[in-house]
This record gives sequence, C-alpha cells and structure tokens, in this order.
Amino acid sequence: MIIMSEVIFGFETMRLDLEKENDISSINNDDVMEMIDYYMDQGFNYFDTGYTYHNGAAQEVLKIGLVGRYPRESFRIANKLPIWLVKSEADNEKYASEMLKNLGIDYFDVFLIHDLNEAFLPFVEKFKSFEYLQKMKDEGKARKIGFSYHDKSELLEKILEKYGEMIDVVQLQINYLDWESKLTEARKNYEVCEKYGKEVIVMEPLKGGTLFDLPAHIKEKFNENGMSLVEAALRFAGSPKNVTVVLSGVGNIEMMKENCKVFNPFNPIDEEEKDFMLSMADEIKKLIAIDCSYCGYCLDECPIGMPIPDYFELYNSEKMYSLHSFYSIYGALLATCPPASACTECGRCKNICTQKLNIPELLKDVADCFEGSYKRKIKRAIEKFIKKYCLR
Ligand code: SF4
Ligand code: SF4
Repeated sequence: MIIMSEVIFGFETMRLDLEKENDISSINNDDVMEMIDYYMDQGFNYFDTGYTYHNGAAQEVLKIGLVGRYPRESFRIANKLPIWLVKSEADNEKYASEMLKNLGIDYFDVFLIHDLNEAFLPFVEKFKSFEYLQKMKDEGKARKIGFSYHDKSELLEKILEKYGEMIDVVQLQINYLDWESKLTEARKNYEVCEKYGKEVIVMEPLKGGTLFDLPAHIKEKFNENGMSLVEAALRFAGSPKNVTVVLSGVGNIEMMKENCKVFNPFNPIDEEEKDFMLSMADEIKKLIAIDCSYCGYCLDECPIGMPIPDYFELYNSEKMYSLHSFYSIYGALLATCPPASACTECGRCKNICTQKLNIPELLKDVADCFEGSYKRKIKRAIEKFIKKYCLR
C-alpha cells in the first residue's frame, strides 16, 4: 500500500439519525445541522447522497442544512443516478434534473451511476447512461463523473477498458474485512482502478457498522495495538494511494467527532498495522455468518416487505453473541413484518444485493434459527401476509 496524505473524510447521508425508529424518512434535522456545522468547521467539505437515501429525505435535509446555509463553492456534493429506476434514455435526464432540484443546486461536484454491476450494465448501455453523464459534464452540470461499483474485478476492468476515458472516479467498497474477500474483491477492484489511473472514493469502510461492533476480545486486540475499531477501519480504507475520500455514515455528533479526529490529520497505516488488521479480518470472518453490509437496497425490491437487513443483522448478532434477547426481538418484529419463512423465493432482491448474497436461501437459515420458538405466532403471521399479498 503506498502512502498519500490528501485523503479526506466524506459525510455520507445514508444512515442518518431518525426521529421515529420505524420511519426511515423521519431524519432528525437538528442533529444533522449540528453535524454539518461541526464537519464544515473541521475543514471538510464532501457530502455524499443518493436519490433513494432515507426515501429522498437525505436530499431534503442537505438542501436545508447545507445548500441553504453555506456558499455553494464552500462544499462539494456527490449524488447518484438510480439506475434501477431508469427505463428509457429520457429517464437519465429526468432523474438527474430532479436530483438537482431536490438539492437546490445547478451542478453536482461528482455524479455517479449508482450501484453498477453485471445485472445493471446492459441497461446502462441500452439507455446510454455513460453518454448522458458525459453530456452533463460537458454542460457543466457535473464536474466529475463515474460510478459506484459492487461486483467482480474482471467486469470492472471491462467497463474501464470501454468507458475509462469518460470516467473520473470510481466509488468502491474498501475495508480490511473485504480486502481479500473472494466475494467483494476489494483489493482486486482497487488495483484495477489504480491500473487505469482512476480516483477512488471509498464506501463502507466499517462494512455497515460491522467493524464498529465487534466482540470484546477482538476490540481488546485493537486497543492493545493502540487503535480504536473506528480509527483502524478508517485508516485502512484511506491508505491506498488513489483514495481521495473515505465516506462514513455518521448517525450522531459523537460519531462525527470521532470520524473527524481520524482525518485531522490523517495518518495512513504502515505495513505492520496492515498485516495486523488483515490477521484480525481472518478472525472476524469466522464470527460473521451472513456477509450483509446492511445497505438496505434490497428493501424496495421485496413485494412482501421482508426486513432483510434487520433479519440478517439479528442472525449475525445471535451467532456472534448467543443471547436469548435476539429471539425476543425477532418475535417482536413479527407484529409488523413477514417472518423469514414467508419469503416466496421470487428472487427480486438478489439482483440488487450489493454483496451478491443468495437472500432467499439465507432467509431459510434465519427462519431455522428463530422460528422454532414462535411456531403459532409464525403460522398466524404467514396467514396474515398470504392474505395481504395473495402470493401463495
Ligand atoms: S426472494 Fe423473498 S426476500 Fe427476496 S424479494 Fe422475493 S419475497 Fe422478498
Ligand atoms: S442483503 Fe444485500 S442488498 Fe440487502 S442490505 Fe444486505 S447487502 Fe444490502
């Protein structure tokens, strides 16, 4: 890993603090304003959002709290074209214009195709989305263009070979747990970007919070090496030389302060620290049953409203900590959510899964784990959902 010092912390708005636990759009605006002010005051300026983040509410809070309160040239905004919603060439413009309007700005600093993968690439090509992004850049509506990416390095190489001249930046999932992963290929994807001379923005440096919430014996080992879990993960993510921004999804002011501290100033990892973290990754992998990043992209796809990431998080927690309370939480969720065993195996969630998980199969594991204790409740819940959706 080669060292550079230009890397900054980017404020990612996918996991903001909520006023109502079960309402993803109920962002706590006062908390976000406080975080924006602190972040700007610390000398950072990169805000990352998405059309679907918090059902559109993330864009709204940025419009009020950032665009409405700071001069346009004092901050940068990255947004992403929701490619799964684009059904025609005209839709590229429709969504891009809508997003500019939602944020109250007339250009994006970075505009990306959101979640490019093998399943979406044919649509990106059919509806000429790369060409549309190039047009935005030519017209001054986007200063840098690229894509966020969740797939194999072989495909990334093909994409950069074909469209590399247009592309300024690639957003990649990089963290020490995924660095050598055969599934996410973080290192290999990074190396392809380096080969093509592309700037890299890092997402999921804490793997959706997984690397923040580790068992005590792992945490102790990091502490013995002079690092907190957050600091270790962010420093790892920011150390490859083509990385310019590390996005972190901060939910409250304390997390914001901790994140800012790591980057003020940024201290890249050395080879010894890297070896230590990769050895820890091997230990952590043995504890994680389902490799979900809790991004939530699958939620909109499920016709019966399966709370997929919640169930996977609960399952992982149960496997890691073996506490009876996880069974109670599962039981409580059944009041409003379909049980894992109600999955119809339609497969719609699989195409969009950023971690390439076989979701219907994994839901069977969740059901096997939790549903034995709730046979009668499950039966009633399944009957309720069958009636509601007439799916079986
Ligand atoms: S396979 Fe199951 S979880 Fe996935 S979209 Fe279909 S019903 Fe929902
Ligand atoms: S199952 Fe896949 S798409 Fe859904 S939250 Fe997990 S990683 Fe994201």
